[in-house]
Amino acid sequence: MKHAACTREDEVLALVSRLHGALHDPDVLAHVEECDTCAAMVSLATALRTDRDEMLRAAHVPAAGQVWWRAALRAHADAAHAARRPIVWLQGIAAACLLGVATAFGGAVWGTVHDGVASLVTRAPRLDVSVDIGRVAGVLQPVLPLAIVIGVCLLVTPVVVYLALSDD
Ligand SMILES: [Zn+2]
Repeated sequence: MKHAACTREDEVLALVSRLHGALHDPDVLAHVEECDTCAAMVSLATALRTDRDEMLRAAHVPAAGQVWWRAALRAHADAAHAARRPIVWLQGIAAACLLGVATAFGGAVWGTVHDGVASLVTRAPRLDVSVDIGRVAGVLQPVLPLAIVIGVCLLVTPVVVYLALSDD
């Protein structure tokens, strides 16, 4: 058995590749039986093809509907994630605005309340309770509509943003 270079090796290889290992040409078949190089090449090509075919049979290829379903779920999850991002940003901005308004409002009210309480404490023996409540109500009354408007905006804004960004 010798494995010398064969002049018909390329021809046999092309036939084996094109015909998927089945050689039908009697001239080529006779040459492969006589030539050890071509016989080894055909044997190797046949073994590689058989191995590849077995791997393709064993591979689990999901059904097209399952692939589509998974892609639809992934697209839906990505869209939900993308839609959630601006809402989170808006909630953060709303929280920062609320904190700023509360700080400013508290600072403005605190001075007035502190002065009112200080004057009440100094004049407490001379005043009755109805005067104290009236003074506190008088201090809070001008800012009460603003506080109600801010509270309603903080409650309604996330709902409006959610409805505007939802697809359904
Ligand atoms: Zn040969």
